[in-house]
Amino acid sequence: MLSLSHVSVSYDGHEAVRDVTLDLADGHVLAVLGPSGSGKSTLLRAIAGLEPARGTITWDGRSLAGVPTHKRGFALMFQDGQLFEHLSVGRNVGYSLRLRRAPGRAARVAELLDLVGLAGYADRMPATLSGGERQRVALARALAVEPRLLLLDEPLSALDAGLRERLAGDLRRILQAAGTTALLVTHDQEEAFAVADRLAVMRDGRLVQEGDAAQVWAAPVDADTALFLGYAHVLEGAAARRLLDGTTLDQRDEPRVAVRRSALVLDDAGPIRATVAWARATPDVVRLVVVADGIGELDAVAPLDRHPGPGEPVRLRLDATRLAVMPGQ
Ligand code: ADP
Ligand code: MG
Repeated sequence: MLSLSHVSVSYDGHEAVRDVTLDLADGHVLAVLGPSGSGKSTLLRAIAGLEPARGTITWDGRSLAGVPTHKRGFALMFQDGQLFEHLSVGRNVGYSLRLRRAPGRAARVAELLDLVGLAGYADRMPATLSGGERQRVALARALAVEPRLLLLDEPLSALDAGLRERLAGDLRRILQAAGTTALLVTHDQEEAFAVADRLAVMRDGRLVQEGDAAQVWAAPVDADTALFLGYAHVLEGAAARRLLDGTTLDQRDEPRVAVRRSALVLDDAGPIRATVAWARATPDVVRLVVVADGIGELDAVAPLDRHPGPGEPVRLRLDATRLAVMPGQ
């Protein structure tokens, strides 16, 4: 188990990582999610031993202070897989096995290529591979030594959106199949949810929320976190109470509610009255911006066969599966 206790990293007096305390139990995949510049890569580098840090970092209770990177038993993978261009795919994957003179290398390389969906690629050269294939090779190479912890820094960020989505699902399955404990840093919330079962949200060098990924998603700790996770609005006070009226949701005195983009659905018998400000059809739905009575401007959706125009009064209902009731202030 990896444990961080009050870890901070400074560059020339600027604290890039501030007082981070965090545990990662074996067999879990943790995504450290935060905007660019929030200190994610610095934290990962501190764990890898590439950056001097204050506080303590331990593995199974033993301090890693003074343990050099290559003796930590961790593997690293970056946005650009950094393959050895002059070596074949098979030799890239088997590189560290060869250094260790591990027996049965060819069989192990074949097994790893199979694991990442590249069976039969052993003799290809890196220059002939697509971006997604290169990252799969880098992953197989990182897994070859069976690291006790795999550290991934934005491993899919250089890929285009469709491929990134597919590879994120593959990455989750591959890490599960290999039973690898991993820490992934990313600025992309979809990637974080697709790959990890634990989530840590960073902002300005601090850890602002940490926990089971589904729980973090269901109850963001504050408005900034909710918006960063992809919620469209955060409502408080009277507006929040008004929105929750008629639902069975927890209604405290001062509720705060994070609402996803399509949480409000056009329904001619719905309890929420609104006026359409803007409407546009997409292939699946009509997207609306409405001004709701006592609530304010919100996004909503309508079915394609019902396309209300600007100024039209409408009624909406709340899809309660698409909102989160947030902790009080
Ligand atoms: P992220 O990975 O979340 O985008 P980083 O950890 O790379 O963020 O950076 C966090 C902060 O530390 C930023 O303000 C960045 O400019 C600064 N920083 C990162 N690396 C260095 C460095 N080697 N020297 C000085 N400042 C750095
Ligand atoms: Mg980074």
